[in-house]
Amino acid sequence: MTSTYTGRFAPTPSGFLHFGSLVAALASYLDARHVGGRWLLRMEDLDPPREVPGAQDAILNTLETYGFEWDGPIERQSDRLEVYAGVLQRLFDQGLVYACTCSRKQLEGYHGVYPGFCRLAGYSQDDTALRIRVPQLEYRFIDRVQGEFSQHLGREVGDFVVRRRDGLYAYQLAVVLDDAWQGVTHIVRGADLLDSTPRQTYLQELLGFSLPRYLHVPLIIQPDGHKLGKSYRSPPLPMDLVSPLLTRALRALGQCPPSELNNASPRELLDWGILHWDTALIPRSRTLAESQLK
Ligand code: GLU
Ligand code: ZN
Repeated sequence: MTSTYTGRFAPTPSGFLHFGSLVAALASYLDARHVGGRWLLRMEDLDPPREVPGAQDAILNTLETYGFEWDGPIERQSDRLEVYAGVLQRLFDQGLVYACTCSRKQLEGYHGVYPGFCRLAGYSQDDTALRIRVPQLEYRFIDRVQGEFSQHLGREVGDFVVRRRDGLYAYQLAVVLDDAWQGVTHIVRGADLLDSTPRQTYLQELLGFSLPRYLHVPLIIQPDGHKLGKSYRSPPLPMDLVSPLLTRALRALGQCPPSELNNASPRELLDWGILHWDTALIPRSRTLAESQLK
């Protein structure tokens, strides 16, 4: 089957892959391969101070051990800094991006919605954060699993940071530029990023990119309600229980391999998943408690 589908998995090396990352990687991989699409791997290494030494190699090693095969070379965001800088300079010259000198203290009490203090100040951009102007508009999209999602960018987010004061580029900017550059048509990822999507849609429209389709899979949470993320030091995926964990991740996505596959290899489980992938079976919830998974 020829396909116009390009998907990707885009881990951040600030930690190792955990069960929630496996669920997201598996969903994007199966969604792509089910239609004969391409599946790319991108290392989102934008934040060197938060990068855990060895995490990049460990992530690649884990993906290989779990049977994933990606197309083309691995792209790294750290190789793309000049592109991000060029785009920001253009947006700055157009007046769409501006320098913000606000301290964290000044922004306290605004519940994460930037109040626009520096919007008209015209500061020069050396050693400052850069923010992008957002319109007073509601952004709405239909997620393939979560359904309709909308967010008023002006009221709920405000002008957001595209480059931090320390010079690091923001995820929101890099992800949009890289997905467009790599020709990504379908984005499958964890539901923690649902509320980033309207910001990304705004940037895509502003930059004249076509809009990818989105599918957000439930975020796996620990019994105490914490997001199963790197910041909570959730355990890295083991290398010796690969098939049982793949089976568990398939089940978390509503795909239930038959008992004949109980002793199957990772490759056999992935091939079963590719053949039987059905997005209608994915739980339509934003979170799943890990303790409730069978
Ligand atoms: N790098 C992000 C993360 O690890 C994922 C970005 C995305 O899929 O859009 O959470
Ligand atoms: Zn400011």
